[in-house]
This record gives sequence, structure tokens and C-alpha cells, in this order.
Amino acid sequence: MIRSTLHNHTHLCDGMNSAEEMAEAALKAGFTDFGFSGHAPAFFDEESTMRSEEEYIREILRVRELFKGRVRIHLGVEQEYLAPVKDRRAYDYIIGSIHNLKIGGRYYTFDWTHEMMEDLTGAVDDAGWIPKQYYAYMMDMILVQKPDIIGHFDLVTKLNADEKYFKEDREYRRLALEALDVAIESDSVIEVNAAGFRYRPAPYPDKFLLERIFERGKLLSVQADAHRADAIVDNIAETVELLREIGFRSSLQWIDGQWREIGLEE
Ligand SMILES: [Zn+2]
Ligand SMILES: [Zn+2]
Repeated sequence: MIRSTLHNHTHLCDGMNSAEEMAEAALKAGFTDFGFSGHAPAFFDEESTMRSEEEYIREILRVRELFKGRVRIHLGVEQEYLAPVKDRRAYDYIIGSIHNLKIGGRYYTFDWTHEMMEDLTGAVDDAGWIPKQYYAYMMDMILVQKPDIIGHFDLVTKLNADEKYFKEDREYRRLALEALDVAIESDSVIEVNAAGFRYRPAPYPDKFLLERIFERGKLLSVQADAHRADAIVDNIAETVELLREIGFRSSLQWIDGQWREIGLEE
């Protein structure tokens, strides 16, 4: 049973509900620990990122007090690789994510709309460059920024159903597995992000990557990436079920300030 998730959003970035409403929903769902990970400010993506870290931190700390003794609230942030936060010590944890690629002086978001994805593919000669650059960012992010949690490992495939933009062939898998090995060998926790199920019959990362993680004996942490109070446990059951099928018997959960290995059945 998953009693803790750390990857959740509010209306201070691109979520639909207030932090208070999200915490209330977490309490009702039986969570003991619930973390917020607002998108840190990025000047090239103002629409989906928070306006002010100060305002965000103040609000999460207020909600932490409000729910004291009922559900433990954790203050995290989802940091964009190309726009790291000024002071990570302001947060309990950092989720390192990549939603944008930079070409020349321009930033391209690839996880939002097909129009944006078409914009990006129009800017490159060969669409195979997109995953190649994405996984190069990923390796650098893990080695240099050392996030506490690695967000949605293969998000670059989000809008790529039926290989609409680039091939997920042998070469694609080689690139993804090379970056995954860096993630496995790092001290960062890899999340299995249930939101992938909204777009395909698998979470992030995809099944072949989860199998490699299992073979190499690394534990995962199940995260909802919830953007709405009525969706804080969405796709968690499917994600846990898939982990079991692959062979996992436990996962990591952040409980009262530390990672604990907890059985998937418990
Ligand atoms: Zn994200
Ligand atoms: Zn997120």
C-alpha cells in the first residue's frame, strides 16, 4: 500500500487545486505523508511554473501547520534541468525533471501539446535528435545536479504514441538504457510516475526500463504526479500491479523524513 507520495502540484503552478484541498484529499485517501513539488520558476515556461518560490514555500509551510498531527506535509520542488533553483536547501527534496529542450537560443516544451511537439520537430533536421538530446540532458542532470528524485524518466515519449515523432527503435532503447544505468548507479531515487498511464498502458519509465531497474536490484518510488485533488491516487493501483508483474516486492516511501522500503502488499 502506498501511504506517501511526494510528486504533487497545486494551482500555484499548473495544478487545479489549492495546497489545502490537495492535503485534505491526501488525508481522506489515507496518506501519512504527502509532499508538494511545484514546478520551480523557469522564465521560458511561465505558464506551467510557479511565479514566486517565496509565496509557494510560505503556502506549503502554512498547510503543513494546518495539518499537523493528521498528515505530514513535505516541501519539495520539481526543478527544470535548464533552470535550477537558487537554493535547494530551502526544500526538503528536489525532483529533477526535463520538460524542455534548448535549440539555439530557443526553448521547446515537449510534454504539453502536439502543436509544441510539431514546433520542436520542425526545428531539427532529424527527429531522432530529440530523444538523443533528452537523454544527454538526463545523464548530465543526474551527475551534476544530483536530484533527490529523478522525475518521469522517459517523459520525452509522452506524446510519441505510435512513434508519431521519432522511432522508439533499438537505437532509442540503447540511449534510454545508457542513461538509465547512470540513474541506477546514482544515489538518486528513481520514481515510477503513474501519470504515464494517462497516455499509454505504462507509467514512466516504460516497461523495458522498469525491467532493467528490477534486474539491477534498484528500488523505485511510486509517485502520482497529481495535478488535481480528485486524482491523487489515480493510476497508482495499476502502477503497483505492473511492478508486481515485473517482480518487485517492495518500493521506497518517504515516511516522516526518511526513505523506507515497504512491501507492495503491506
Ligand atoms: Zn513533470
Ligand atoms: Zn510533476
